[in-house]
Amino acid sequence: MLTPHAIAALNAEHATSDPKAILRAAFAQWPGAELSFSGAEDVVLIELASKLLPRVNAFTLDTGRLHPETYQFIERVRVHYPLDLDVLSPDAAQLQAFVREKGLFSFYEDGHEACCGIRKVAPLRRKLATVDAWISGQRRDQSPTRADVPLFEIDAAFSTPDHQLIKINPLANWSSADVWNYIRLFDVPYNSLHDRGFISIGCEPCTRAIGPNQHEREGRWWWEEATIKECGLHKRPPQS
Ligand code: SF4
Repeated sequence: MLTPHAIAALNAEHATSDPKAILRAAFAQWPGAELSFSGAEDVVLIELASKLLPRVNAFTLDTGRLHPETYQFIERVRVHYPLDLDVLSPDAAQLQAFVREKGLFSFYEDGHEACCGIRKVAPLRRKLATVDAWISGQRRDQSPTRADVPLFEIDAAFSTPDHQLIKINPLANWSSADVWNYIRLFDVPYNSLHDRGFISIGCEPCTRAIGPNQHEREGRWWWEEATIKECGLHKRPPQS
C-alpha cells in the first residue's frame, strides 16, 4: 500500500518527466498496470508503451452505443500494435432491465449517470478489481473537472479497503496540441471522426462535432453543465 506521502514523492520526482519516462517508472513499479483505451491520447500511450514492453495490456469499454467509426478505430489499433486488448461489455441482465424500464435515450431527460453507470462504470469496476494500477490519457486542459489531475494518484473512486488502486496519468501535463503533434509525427492511428470536427469522442448519442473556438468537452453531453461532464470513470474527490 502506498501512502499519500509516497504518491506525493512520485509526483514531485516526475514533475518534469516526459510521458515515456513516466510510463517506464509506472511499469517498473506496477508490472501489471493496464492502459485504458478509447481516445487519441490513449493510442499515444499505447505507442509509447509498445516501445517499452514486448506486449501491451489494455482494455476498452464497448458500451454498445459507439459510432461505427469508433469500432473500426478500436480494431485498427488492436491489430496495429502488439496489444492484448480486453473489450469490456456491460452486464447483459442489468442493461436489459434498465432499457426495459427507461428506454434507449433516457439520458436526454434525466442525465447520463444511470446509463454510464451500467454501460461504463460497472464494467470498469469489474476490470479494475483485477489490477493494481491503471493508466489513463487524461490531460489537465481537457475540462474544468480535470484541471488538477496529478501524474500519479490513489484512485479514490475505485480503490476499496482491501484493494488499493493506483492511477497514472502520464499525459497530464500535455496539451491537445502536444498529443496531435505526436500523432502526426509518428503516424499514430486515430479515429476518423476527428477529421469531421469531433474532438472528444464518446458514445454516438452523447457526442457531437464542435465548431471553431468551442472547448473540446462541449461536444460531450452538451445538454449538461460543464462541471459535471464526467461519466464516472475519472471521478476524483474535491481538492483543497
Ligand atoms: S455516454 Fe451516453 S450512451 Fe454512452 S453510456 Fe453514457 S449516457 Fe449511455
